[in-house]
Amino acid sequence: MNTLSANPWRGLPATALAIAASIAVAFIAPESGYYLNILMQAATYAIGVVGLVVVLGYCGQISIAQAAFFGIGAYGVALGTVDHGLGFFAGALIGVVVAGVLGLILGLGSLRLGGHYLAMVSISFQTILTLVLTNWISFTHGPDGVRNIPRPRLFGFSLESGNSFLGLVLVATVLATFAVWRLKSSRLGRRMQAVRDNDLAAATCGIDVFGTKVVAFGISAVLGAVGGALFAGGFQYISPDQFSFAESIVLLTMALLGGVQSAFGALIGTVLLVLLPEWLRFLRQVYLAVYGAAVILIMVFLPDGLWGFVGPRLAALRRPEDPTARRVPPLPLLARTGTPSEDSVLRVEGLAKHFGGLKAVDGVDLSVRRGTVHALIGPNGSGKTTFINVVTGLYKPTGGRITFQGTDITATSPHQRNRRGLARTYQNIRVFRGMTVLENVMIGAERPGNDVARDPDAVLQRALAALDFVDMRADANRMVGELSYGHQRYVEIARALAGSPETLLLDEPAAGLNTTEKVELGQLLRRLKGHGLTILIVDHDMNLVEAVADHITVLNFGRRIADGSPRDVLSHPDVIAAYLGEPRHEAA
Ligand code: ADP
Ligand code: MG
Repeated sequence: MNTLSANPWRGLPATALAIAASIAVAFIAPESGYYLNILMQAATYAIGVVGLVVVLGYCGQISIAQAAFFGIGAYGVALGTVDHGLGFFAGALIGVVVAGVLGLILGLGSLRLGGHYLAMVSISFQTILTLVLTNWISFTHGPDGVRNIPRPRLFGFSLESGNSFLGLVLVATVLATFAVWRLKSSRLGRRMQAVRDNDLAAATCGIDVFGTKVVAFGISAVLGAVGGALFAGGFQYISPDQFSFAESIVLLTMALLGGVQSAFGALIGTVLLVLLPEWLRFLRQVYLAVYGAAVILIMVFLPDGLWGFVGPRLAALRRPEDPTARRVPPLPLLARTGTPSEDSVLRVEGLAKHFGGLKAVDGVDLSVRRGTVHALIGPNGSGKTTFINVVTGLYKPTGGRITFQGTDITATSPHQRNRRGLARTYQNIRVFRGMTVLENVMIGAERPGNDVARDPDAVLQRALAALDFVDMRADANRMVGELSYGHQRYVEIARALAGSPETLLLDEPAAGLNTTEKVELGQLLRRLKGHGLTILIVDHDMNLVEAVADHITVLNFGRRIADGSPRDVLSHPDVIAAYLGEPRHEAA
């Protein structure tokens, strides 16, 4: 909940306390034996599971190979120290780097593959690793595994005893949890969540969707390998079966059970799944069945995991810092020079988009002048949304050229276009549903290329200004998914405005709004116009269009049938025949 403040010290006191507690545990824990092993297992696994939170919880990418990365870290230490005379930390570093690189490569698969297919690739990767560890006997020792893995010294302290090494492991677990927790409210973390919630909208908010996924895979793999390296030191013996597909499923279950959106959830899930089998051992033969049933029950009744249940209740106990209550003056939205001019900001020439035989957009020319409101109208299915999708880069054109502020952008990606100042909203609202209103709008303000993008406080202020503009500051800390349809639209508009775009494309902003909301939207559009923003608006509502448009282009069956001032266009016989007859009639 308290993910919004830009306070750089947030969580540090609690982390310092947890580190002190970890060191204390190292002194009181037994030197070896059953309890030490349980603690060692839970703490090392937890680091790998916290890594899964990044890729699966934050970025929404399924990876079923975390045990493989865990194993690579473990083998880095084991082979480095036992066979190649390296120190513990040198071996660990090699394992972590190798895992990180392989994680990035696995992430590269997300360019062409999504969802299930990517999951399949990660399973294949997991299987290949197990085969290599088992069969490349001369290098890995094969199924026998590696024995007598030494423990290191650190800052002159020997960590050779089990309990002192456990201290190191616990400190690493605390640091990994802290880092992943902070990541969630960082710029990178917000990007990952935006990609998870709506990858198209993320791209048109200037986020490099593919790059963000790759980075998430890399971070996740690195954390997996760190956990594995410590596991090798903790148990001093490893073998391939400890890093098999089945273990990847265990790690995944830990993350889902605890709550994959949260680093704390990962901790809870790990501890529970390590302890549960131990607690249930007295049941002897039936223990696996009870264990399985317990896991299934928790997942069915708590779909967001244990932390999904506990977290919000804990947060409700203490009053969270409310960033919107802080006395920061909102940073004004960037005002454009409000004078309409003849020079065209967006110029589209001969644009075509064919879907097989269907010519959705068929050789359309259009030029939007700076500081004006340009309306694109036409009957349902005439190609308006397709036109916007091609202009914002979501579709590749079949033909034609798009020039934005004098640069040919026809071949660029959606996020590059947004970074040049081209923002949009969607006919079917695309907000980031798993995030708050303010976070949604902050993503807009953080658009690379925006004037405030690199300053966290200014981002917050600009986001608040955008929320003020649509009169939604009071809802800043609510989850977007809780809002009414009309308010979600305003969030989408505020998100675009916070990025101080050069040009804003609005695809049917009045769709799904009730009459009152439509009147409000009309006022909002007039205020935007007063701001000097260049706007291309698609809408059905002729009253709205007549009220704000300086220029109108009409499409029918993908072709431009009229273009000019509202008065000329709306009296054009073709336009009346194709389009206006019907709605005018309805209105009467
Ligand atoms: P409008 O926004 O003007 O109502 P659209 O641009 O959504 O119209 O659609 C124009 C035509 O293109 C429609 O016939 C629609 O069915 C078709 N179309 C739109 N998107 C796709 C797509 N992704 N694949 C195939 N046909 C599409
Ligand atoms: Mg449409």
